[in-house]
Amino acid sequence: MNKKLKKERLLEQILHCEDMLQGSIVKINSRCGKKGCKCERGEYHGISYYLSYREGGRTQMVYIPKHLVAEVIQRIEDFKRYWDLGVKLAKLNLQELQEKQKTTHKRAR
Ligand SMILES: [Zn+2]
Repeated sequence: MNKKLKKERLLEQILHCEDMLQGSIVKINSRCGKKGCKCERGEYHGISYYLSYREGGRTQMVYIPKHLVAEVIQRIEDFKRYWDLGVKLAKLNLQELQEKQKTTHKRAR
């Protein structure tokens, strides 16, 4: 497969990651905050899910309703795939750059 085709394939796969989300799913035990409630003693009101991500050096948390957790996990996977594809694309571009340099050197001699 030539490089141009390889790049096209990578870009095509990157397009499939359009719904990606960055971050990770964090499980947190729910507390209501009321004084004397059983949750103060560690009997929580169930588990809440959050999407945790870094922005401007700070960790942000976005509440994720339970019925969306599986979907969000999938979309985080999309981000990882997008990242891997980007790394592959960059490697390909580096190879191209190096080959270009070689040919210019040859021409210069
Ligand atoms: Zn409580």
